[in-house]
Amino acid sequence: MSNSKDFLRAIVEEDLKSGKNKEIVTRFPPEPNGFPHIGHAKSIYINFGIASDYHGHCNLRMDDTNPTKEDTKYVEALKDAVEWLGFDWGDNVYFTSDYFPKLYDYAVELIKMGKAYVDSLTEDEIREYRGTVTQAGKRSKYAGRSVEENLDLFERMKKGEFKDGEHILRAKIDMSAANMKMRDPLLYRIRHAHHFRAKNEWCIYPMYDFAHCLSDYIEGISHSICTLEFENNRDIYNWVLDTLSLTTPRPYQYEFARLGINYTVMSKRKLLELVQSGQVSGWDDPRLPTIAGYKRRGYTPESILNFCDQIGIAKANSTVDVAQLEFCIRDDLNKKVPRVMCVLDPLKVTIENYEGCEEIDAPYYPHDVPKDGSRKIPFSREIYIERDDFIENPPKGYFRLTPEQPVRLRHGYIITCKEVIKDSNGNILEIKAQYHPESKSGCDTSSIKVKSAVQWVSAAQAKRVEIRVYDRLFKNEAPEGIEDLNPDSLKVIKNALIEPAAITEKPDERFQFERQGYFYADPIEYTDEKPVFNKIVGLKDSWAKKTKTTKSAPKPQTKKIQVDGEVVPMSEVQQILFDKYTGKLGLNSEVANTLARDKELSCFYEDALSVNNSPVTIANIVANEVARELKESQIDELKFSAKQISELVKMVDDEIISSKIAKQVFEEMAKSGENPTQIVENKGLIQISDPSKILPIIDEIFAKNPDNVAKFKAGNTKLLGFFVGQVLKTTGGKANPKVVNSLVTQKLK
Ligand code: ATP
Ligand code: MG
Repeated sequence: MSNSKDFLRAIVEEDLKSGKNKEIVTRFPPEPNGFPHIGHAKSIYINFGIASDYHGHCNLRMDDTNPTKEDTKYVEALKDAVEWLGFDWGDNVYFTSDYFPKLYDYAVELIKMGKAYVDSLTEDEIREYRGTVTQAGKRSKYAGRSVEENLDLFERMKKGEFKDGEHILRAKIDMSAANMKMRDPLLYRIRHAHHFRAKNEWCIYPMYDFAHCLSDYIEGISHSICTLEFENNRDIYNWVLDTLSLTTPRPYQYEFARLGINYTVMSKRKLLELVQSGQVSGWDDPRLPTIAGYKRRGYTPESILNFCDQIGIAKANSTVDVAQLEFCIRDDLNKKVPRVMCVLDPLKVTIENYEGCEEIDAPYYPHDVPKDGSRKIPFSREIYIERDDFIENPPKGYFRLTPEQPVRLRHGYIITCKEVIKDSNGNILEIKAQYHPESKSGCDTSSIKVKSAVQWVSAAQAKRVEIRVYDRLFKNEAPEGIEDLNPDSLKVIKNALIEPAAITEKPDERFQFERQGYFYADPIEYTDEKPVFNKIVGLKDSWAKKTKTTKSAPKPQTKKIQVDGEVVPMSEVQQILFDKYTGKLGLNSEVANTLARDKELSCFYEDALSVNNSPVTIANIVANEVARELKESQIDELKFSAKQISELVKMVDDEIISSKIAKQVFEEMAKSGENPTQIVENKGLIQISDPSKILPIIDEIFAKNPDNVAKFKAGNTKLLGFFVGQVLKTTGGKANPKVVNSLVTQKLK
């Protein structure tokens, strides 16, 4: 399926080669507590993809160990998603709840071995006793209970003799372990709650760390692939299986980076909030990053799989630009779907010299698409065009209909405006026009020149449709929650008009509406009386113009330490650092959090800062680039020092190199350990700021792009970015963007 070999496939191949595994068995183990999102699609693609590449199989397992949040409707949504994406889980869906009796027996075994005990501390005490990153924890006084007492208490926990939180079962490992997850992790808790499958049979529930590895073992999983936040849980995973001597063949855990996408939120908890608060119409709201949302909006499974393939599998978390997903759906539909005409904001045009009606034969696909098919478009005296395809006093460079400028009706005739009818307020009500009989598309013998063709529909045959235009749900690149919602994410157009051919086709179909974008007949609300179309995506990336810097800036890695899903409060020292970073040093809270919570990173940061006092720039590089390196290697294995980082930052501050080049230098430094100044000199990366060196390049680019120069001078100032981009490209990113910008602006005046 995938042709590139990633690190997971490399491991799998090695294990097959060495004979460690005879069969590859993976699993996709969602908790049925919400609808799956595109992050899950990535996990599905990896787990099912790897299994199928190596002729193994992948289990679909519901990780249903938390009775209060789970529900059958989520199980169904998960099955739908996997199926829609084209994967097959075989005969059974597995449920962790089916293993509850076995898991209980394993827990009893651990108790008998003296490796687990019933603890009776309160939640707060447990947290307090756990210690901190720098301080060892201390063991509960209940850890000394005898095996008999533990067995008795655990059985009574199961029988329901205690209240929630009164006791818990813990593994007896090491309260001073450097990996805090190993400080006597929780194995079972009491929850008097109704479970959607086990009903009221159980009132103790296994924790993730206990249930997951054993479920993997029970199912004969060979490779247990999960996301990076479980990295520290791997030690418990191995401890449980090893302690119980579950050896023949046993599963191993591997981690990959979670998918994050900008302009959206991606955790089921946050999605649930949006659904419950009514900010969206449901889990399948086409603006949500849920699989059901994409499906309803009109995305194809192919486009999502293709996206998952493109983003690849990495070990460092990063945020992917949503534009990349939009590219994938556009790319998929471009060659697949028929093109028809729809007018979203109709303006009436009466063609005064036309009588009767005719049908124009028009192909569904352009020449370069290897698909056939055509339809008849009715044409008559009264038509509608898009309101903004006519302007009375057009700006320079406006190519559509004006009182002076004729336009072609797509697939039809050229028309000329004769008269503009307005109401008493000056609003345009109608255009009176004339058509040119010899100008019919395909057999045009007229000599009339037009600059563009516009979509239109014939008034008598056009059908009224509702169009739902979706935009990004959040206005911020990294939204926190409801306060960042984009108020314009849904626009409903009630009175759009569409050509009849797009109606007679079966619903649940996709079209390109010419010049508008890709649309999908809503699979749920579309009816003959009221056809509804969802906008899937526009023809071009409209946000690339609106915001200049939407490129996927890697998100700082937040090494949050988690206990049962809660972020551990900061230690006193961490809190002091955090306050200093966000206060005096002016870092944003995410970067400050990353640094403050990680002793190695904060020491490294302070070291670099003592050489070069550029707190924000250094912090960004330490929280991103250095943190990433530290995921792969120990601090004393790093090839570069804090001093070298500050040297690098100083070159950026002094404008010797651009921050883009700085990334390149960093990669080199991380590999070779060479000094940044040396790298910059050897590779000739010094930033070019001298106008006399940049101006000839600008001249050359202007000479190569006369059309764009003309367009810019005619008022299309958005092309500034194009010119600056070209200069940067020509110089391999070395030209100083600020200087280029002002030179280009001056020259174009
Ligand atoms: P969320 O935080 O969104 O609720 P989760 O990790 O709790 O997600 P699960 O249902 O437990 O969701 O996850 C099922 C599988 O999908 C897990 O293996 C998990 O690692 C993976 N997964 C979840 N979110 C992502 C993501 N954003 N990118 C890649 N894989 C993901
Ligand atoms: Mg979860």
